[in-house]
Amino acid sequence: MDKRVGVLGGGQLGAMLVEAANQLRIPVNVLDVGHSSAKQVSSIGTHVEGSFKDRDAIKQLAAISDLVTVEIEHVDTEILEEISDTVDVQPSWRTIRTIQDKYAQKQHLHEYGVATAKSMPLETASIEELKKASSILGLPVMLKSRREAYDGRGNFPVRTEDDFKPALEALEANKSLYAEKWANFRMELAVMVVKTKEIVLSFPTTETVHENSICKLTYTPARGVSNATNRKAQDLARKAVACFPGKGVFGVEMFLLEDDSLLVNEIAPRPHNSGHYTIEACRVSQYEAHLSAILDLPLRQEDLELREPAVMLNILGGEAKDSHLQIAEAALKDRWLKVHLYGKGQARKGRKMGHITVCAPTISEAERRIQPLIDLVDKGKP
Ligand code: ATP
Ligand code: MG
Ligand code: MG
Repeated sequence: MDKRVGVLGGGQLGAMLVEAANQLRIPVNVLDVGHSSAKQVSSIGTHVEGSFKDRDAIKQLAAISDLVTVEIEHVDTEILEEISDTVDVQPSWRTIRTIQDKYAQKQHLHEYGVATAKSMPLETASIEELKKASSILGLPVMLKSRREAYDGRGNFPVRTEDDFKPALEALEANKSLYAEKWANFRMELAVMVVKTKEIVLSFPTTETVHENSICKLTYTPARGVSNATNRKAQDLARKAVACFPGKGVFGVEMFLLEDDSLLVNEIAPRPHNSGHYTIEACRVSQYEAHLSAILDLPLRQEDLELREPAVMLNILGGEAKDSHLQIAEAALKDRWLKVHLYGKGQARKGRKMGHITVCAPTISEAERRIQPLIDLVDKGKP
């Protein structure tokens, strides 16, 4: 517990990691620009000012840390490879390198026998290439950026040939694109998986609800999912993470299809939005689990059990600058609702500004308690 942990990225995931580390007084050094979320909640660590993509800044972080981890996968893995000679990097830079390219990630999973939606790269971001891909994969098809994608900002649903041009125009700036067969899912599921030095563990299966490709809500346990499907989701998520080297927490997003078969959508090599609920609902949170895994602290499967059903609602930036604060204030009327604000300052529309988790003896009671907040969030929409 005396190891100093360096984190690339100081957003909300880093902040919640710091909050978990604070309880054990584990020093966390954060690399990011300005007074980022994670820096705000720790004065134990020695923070580094700069971009988490900046070579010198990463070296500076490595010099004051015993172990380096990430809260975001869009980092420079060349530098991570370089510093791994002198400092422990977890998960492995190889894992981050493969995962940060969503198409390479899919190929890797395919090699290890993990089912994913069929996909193919576009040689160039051209109409011809998109036409070729859609003739093979069918329409609709999801056009995706290979890199730098988050919150659906790298995705464009292509429904007809008329969408070819706007899709390419919207994503072309990212250059490297791939097309993915449309998944007619009945539901989306996510499992947070923990890879320790000797074992692969998993948190309960969560149902995730996305709106415009951004996670809006999570329900744990997943509603209307049989025990058999739940077991399959757990096994698939653990299998998917087991094929990547290194230690830490991984978020595995999955599609549950109409015939109850499962596909992996994508993996995040870090704590994940779909695991926020673990803070209040599980014996050990995903953040404590990540620290335990990377620092070789004791952790068993039973530590990840659900204590109480939970619903999590993301608070996104709305039309008004302070709409997220209004939602947080309204949530405080019911103190079963646990409000987390990220301290990001100015809200941008669609930016994740905070979240609310409610735990209750049954999932329907949790749903009932959070419904007024969902209504408020929906009312704020144009
Ligand atoms: P994240 O913030 O989770 O990293 P992302 O930008 O990487 O998101 P994806 O996870 O690829 O984006 O997609 C976001 C959402 O878009 C999915 O959760 C799902 O709702 C929808 N989606 C993605 N791929 C497909 C597909 N092949 N078929 C149908 N819907 C899809
Ligand atoms: Mg993603
Ligand atoms: Mg995703």
